[in-house]
Amino acid sequence: MKILVVNAGSSSLKYQLIDMETEKVLAKGGCERIGIRGSLLKAKGNGGEKVFKENMPNHKVAIELVLDALLDEEIGVIKSMDEIDAVGHRIVASGEYFKKTTLVTPEVITTLEKTFELAPLHNPAAATGLKACIEVMPNTPMALVFDTSFHSTMPEKAYLYGIDYNDYKEFGVRKYGAHGTSHKFVAAEAAKYLGKTPEELKIVTCHLGNGSSISAVDGGVCVDTSMGFTPLAGVLMGTRSGDIDASAVEFLARKKGLNHSDMVTYLNKNCGVAGISGVSSDFRDLCAGAKKGNERCQLALDMFAYQVKRFVGSYAAVMGGLDCIVFTAGIGENTPCVREDVCKGLEFLGVKFSSKANKAKNDGSIREISKGNSKVKVLIIPTNEELVIARETAELL
Ligand code: AMP
Repeated sequence: MKILVVNAGSSSLKYQLIDMETEKVLAKGGCERIGIRGSLLKAKGNGGEKVFKENMPNHKVAIELVLDALLDEEIGVIKSMDEIDAVGHRIVASGEYFKKTTLVTPEVITTLEKTFELAPLHNPAAATGLKACIEVMPNTPMALVFDTSFHSTMPEKAYLYGIDYNDYKEFGVRKYGAHGTSHKFVAAEAAKYLGKTPEELKIVTCHLGNGSSISAVDGGVCVDTSMGFTPLAGVLMGTRSGDIDASAVEFLARKKGLNHSDMVTYLNKNCGVAGISGVSSDFRDLCAGAKKGNERCQLALDMFAYQVKRFVGSYAAVMGGLDCIVFTAGIGENTPCVREDVCKGLEFLGVKFSSKANKAKNDGSIREISKGNSKVKVLIIPTNEELVIARETAELL
């Protein structure tokens, strides 16, 4: 079975074609600048790479080009479009409308449109990509795979805000979380690596990238997560503030003369480690800055690790124990000082951290960075969100 995974943004469309027997990526690539002058598709497959500099006025043309690349004489990996058994679409937000991966029908598309206001930058773009795929591949089953599904098991006491319950009911304002496919993948991989079933383990998964979220996974299900109604909540991130007192937001808006929407843009784009350091949102720049003695770069790194640690500790308390901490995504997989600062001082929980293993080169495999006799295992696990989308789509079929 071959599954095409599609991740559509407003002007981009990334894809992977995955063979489900071997779980190998047969081809992958992305269209950039859809609807903008200078659009192009960078495609890999069959051991080769090709750039298609074609005009892509819309997502339909983009997906047609992707299929051309998959069928291409040199880098193509299929002989006919019929070899694609299904398409799995990544959807950022589900609201309370969808709890799990869902097969696309006309009714499902109508319901998907109701989620647009929850993720105005992402969900309308994903729906555009979905409709384009349906037009080009009308007989191929399509599935929606939600970033939020893995968090749908959170209990009410974890996902509710302390607001008027009627407002939650009427407007759906609650915590939904994000990065669910990644948390799900690394938690399952951790269990496999440790030779246990997911039911036996209490895991804190730390997805630390440009957007960062931490989840408590108890017995294989998510019981809490750090992101909220939107991915602005939780720890401070590249440019996002993370959690902040709502009254401070109102105060700042007044002082800066910003309206509601500008204020949310400020919190999303001008804050986080970029705002604290005044240097960059990229942890590579922060590490380099701190090494040269830039105190604000060091402060940004310290704040980030402190806030992640705070979630690790509180989630151990929530689960009544801890067997494993997992680090994943750009920062989690590549920034040793963050992992060390998060785990330092957690000996009381049973963490015996190995600084030596932590500093070993990233070879893309699962790495254990706790000492052999550590009660709590600390693992680095490369995430693979596309594979989860493909697996969920295949399971649905
Ligand atoms: P992601 O959103 O998972 O792609 O993560 C992106 C962030 O990870 C970047 O902004 C960097 O801060 C960090 N990152 C990615 N690669 C590296 C690396 N090789 N070394 C240090 N940090 C990295």
